[in-house]
Amino acid sequence: MDMIPNRFNQQAVIALEDIQLQTALDRGTGNADSRRRDTMAELDDPYALRMQGRGARLRGLADLPDLLEQAERRILASGGHVLWAADAAEANQHVLDICRRHNLKRGVKSKSMVTEEIGLLPFLKPYGIEMVETDLGEYIVQISGSHPSHIIMPVMHMTKEQVRDLFMEKLGMPYTDEASGMTAWARQTLRDEYLQADFGMSGGNFIIAETGTVVTVTNEGNGRLCTTVPPVHIAMVGIEKVIPTWEDFACLLQLLTRSATGQRLSVYVNAVNGPARGDEPDGPQTFYLILVDNGRSDIYASDYAEALACIRCGACLNVCPVYQNIGGHAYGSTYPGPIGAVITPLLKGKASARYLPFASSLCGACKEACPVEINLPDMLLHLRRDLQAEQEPLWQIAMKAYGFGMSHPLLYEIGGKFASLGTNAIAGMQGGDHINNLPSVLAGWTDTRDFPAFGGESFRDWWRKNRQ
Ligand code: SF4
Repeated sequence: MDMIPNRFNQQAVIALEDIQLQTALDRGTGNADSRRRDTMAELDDPYALRMQGRGARLRGLADLPDLLEQAERRILASGGHVLWAADAAEANQHVLDICRRHNLKRGVKSKSMVTEEIGLLPFLKPYGIEMVETDLGEYIVQISGSHPSHIIMPVMHMTKEQVRDLFMEKLGMPYTDEASGMTAWARQTLRDEYLQADFGMSGGNFIIAETGTVVTVTNEGNGRLCTTVPPVHIAMVGIEKVIPTWEDFACLLQLLTRSATGQRLSVYVNAVNGPARGDEPDGPQTFYLILVDNGRSDIYASDYAEALACIRCGACLNVCPVYQNIGGHAYGSTYPGPIGAVITPLLKGKASARYLPFASSLCGACKEACPVEINLPDMLLHLRRDLQAEQEPLWQIAMKAYGFGMSHPLLYEIGGKFASLGTNAIAGMQGGDHINNLPSVLAGWTDTRDFPAFGGESFRDWWRKNRQ
């Protein structure tokens, strides 16, 4: 499956026709959102916690360069290695170099969006380096040859029945309708992978600067196995994930788990500072942290810097009426939904994801659900403005002419009269008081809705007649 954001319109139409996808989305987004609402409602003052979390993220961003250097110093002092990657190519190359240096051929990997973003697994494959996804959702995605369709629930696009059929075909699982049976089969298949792996790979939900700690928040235990069993651990994290203190983490953890999966706390919280020390029985002998920029510095320097405060909880996806109807693949990006519609054009270049900022009704549900109150609707609106300004000079001329007309009363009145005459004439030719078939570039409007003809009498005419 190709991931191409500019095919959004075609992919959305296909998604709307897919009955199984619609069933999966209906179940998945509805359940996730109601669990989030329930657990957030348990808090005495959810808004206060959200504001505290937002403050933690914004403080982290304000001091980002210093905090990253602080985290680096702490990790180096703990015996770890820190590598910086300006872009996807450099990040991939770092992993390849590490694998060559330590003769690593087979890895196990826990969930990480940034490795998906840079295309790490397909990059390593031709060099004979294989990596097995161990998060259950990511594992299903990997064996189905697909891509994750949700930030938190990678197989949001699949029904339980589709997963059963896939496991029967690819893993030789006997027939079962029980999700627990399918999970047990996958777990048994994966168990050997940890023991045979040369290296483990992880992402990181946060980096805590004061101690130089990479924290991962998981439910399946796979993250802990990936980061402790193999002799080498490589963590790859986006540079925006650094936060100042453990106190900030305590707040953000509550927001993350409640917003992502509707849990008060996830089952596992892993904290890694470096390789195992001499007296520690578990843990890798070698630890690398790769800090990935890949466009984040450009966002940091732009009007959209607040988008970097995202804690990747996925709540905005679950409440978005667009995502609820088309799922994640239609966005053609690692990051779907409202946050994806904002950061994909910023990370990949606006021209290569020009339709995504328009994939929103601007209803505001995403901002309301966001635990750190990122103003996604405003950003989407501003991106639309930027895109129009950059890409469509004709549109700009039309908008300037419209603005000129709207700010000159005589022109506005004359324009209104012509519009009334014109639209009524066309509607009359089409046999009614609505236009249902506009020509050329205007056809997009009437493809999906009517265009009512203007009223015969304008408000100004009515006012002149009746104000006495
Ligand atoms: S933008 Fe907000 S709601 Fe959406 S994933 Fe990020 S933190 Fe969660």
